[in-house]
Amino acid sequence: MIGDGMKILIADDDPISRRILSKVVTDLGYEPITVSNGMDALERVKKKECSVVLLDWMMPGMDGIEVCREIRMLDAENVCYIIINSAREGSDDISRALKAGANDYISKKTNSIELKARIGVAVRTAQLEKKLIDLNNRLKYLVRIDSLTGLLNHAAILKELSIELERGRRDGTATSILMLDLDRFKTVNDTYGHQTGDKVLIRFSNLLIQSCRSFDRIGRYGGEEFLIVLPRTGDEESLIIGNRIRARTETLEIDSEIEELSITCSIGCCSTIDSEKHSFAMIASADSALFRAKKAGRNLIMSCK
Ligand code: GH3
Ligand code: MG
Ligand code: MG
Repeated sequence: MIGDGMKILIADDDPISRRILSKVVTDLGYEPITVSNGMDALERVKKKECSVVLLDWMMPGMDGIEVCREIRMLDAENVCYIIINSAREGSDDISRALKAGANDYISKKTNSIELKARIGVAVRTAQLEKKLIDLNNRLKYLVRIDSLTGLLNHAAILKELSIELERGRRDGTATSILMLDLDRFKTVNDTYGHQTGDKVLIRFSNLLIQSCRSFDRIGRYGGEEFLIVLPRTGDEESLIIGNRIRARTETLEIDSEIEELSITCSIGCCSTIDSEKHSFAMIASADSALFRAKKAGRNLIMSCK
């Protein structure tokens, strides 16, 4: 953990060194975790219990340099600022430690003032790195999400479709898609305003989430068009799921400043059950089924068969 209650790992086989370092860490307001060998140090880092490690070089079993190398082979999300703390002082030794992946090197003769300053740098750096990883993860999430509805965006749902089609081919199972389009949505905007239009899109998206299974993938394909990927689902079942969504949409009651309004949607459905289809062919088929549903009067579901 980082920030308040941050823990700093002290790995040293000498109990006196452990005690001295623990006191320095405690004086700085951090919580020390102490271990007496390299293997235990590595385990604690793997469990992400700490982001700063004070490693003794000479320890029985796995020495500090080996621990350093092992830590650097872990997933990059294992943020770890490593300080090698050793009685060895030669330039060659310092160089070896830094090349093995240590961030800093401190002689055992270093006084507590300098030690505290260096631990301060370690904490600051580890916090920054952790922040960067969190931001990066947030960015990875945001880049896939439609900001209005919270559903997958156009690019992300297409990627999911490709992944599911590939998985279905490997497993020999059918994949289906539903292309959904709100009926006469322009009229909703024109009559009740864009804000109400947005609210309708959000309510409809929530209805989709509630109507699908955890392994289904739901995306906003564009404007008032939505794409649902149904893994391990054949034509018949996808029609049942789609029809359930269509029926539930009719019953949605949406408030507006003028009056309560209701909506309907049309759905085009396509399945890989008979043929090996690629994503663009699936979308084209579902689109033409949707077009037929619109032409036949809307509030309908049509299959591409
Ligand atoms: P149809 O039944 O044939 O699908 O008719 P429609 O009116 O739903 O279709 P059309 O393509 O003519 O209009 C779609 C409308 O969706 C027009 C556009 O302004 C609106 N729209 C697209 N994205 C958004 C959005 O994010 N918010 C709001 N409020 N409206 C949107
Ligand atoms: Mg529409
Ligand atoms: Mg449309």
